[in-house]
Amino acid sequence: MGNKTFTIIKPDATRKGHTGAILAQINSAGFKIAALKMLHLSAEKAGEFYAVHRERPFYSELVEFMSSGPVVAAILEKQNAVEDFRTLIGATNPAQAAEGTIRKLYAASIGENAVHGSDSNSNALIEGDFFFNKLEQF
Ligand code: GDP
Repeated sequence: MGNKTFTIIKPDATRKGHTGAILAQINSAGFKIAALKMLHLSAEKAGEFYAVHRERPFYSELVEFMSSGPVVAAILEKQNAVEDFRTLIGATNPAQAAEGTIRKLYAASIGENAVHGSDSNSNALIEGDFFFNKLEQF
């Protein structure tokens, strides 16, 4: 048992065939998968998920990108899950991400950056519940 975090393998990474490698890296880092699904977000749903960024200049680009193809959503469990997962994925901009991080390995740009990771325990729960009903969470 541990804390929960929430991740999305974004459309750039699923399109390039990195889903399996990213999930393997997540498992190797000690995260247990507590929920998992592949889906294609509508622009409306992507906009709702990223509503906190509504006023940012890149919002429409972000919504268009996140609804451009299938994603893989997952709830992950580990001690100190939120912080450890942010370390595993690396900086938002892959150019600034540490060597060996998921974004350094698989992301092309600050917008198309391969994975999402929750920024707090409370957001992890909100985001997990956005994608998964109670029967889908373990
Ligand atoms: P994160 O917590 O590391 O994902 O970063 P943020 O919460 O700051 O941003 C959310 C997401 O918006 C990022 O993961 C990117 O996909 C996207 N994003 C952030 N900054 C930019 C930007 O300058 N341009 C574009 N196109 N997308 C951005």
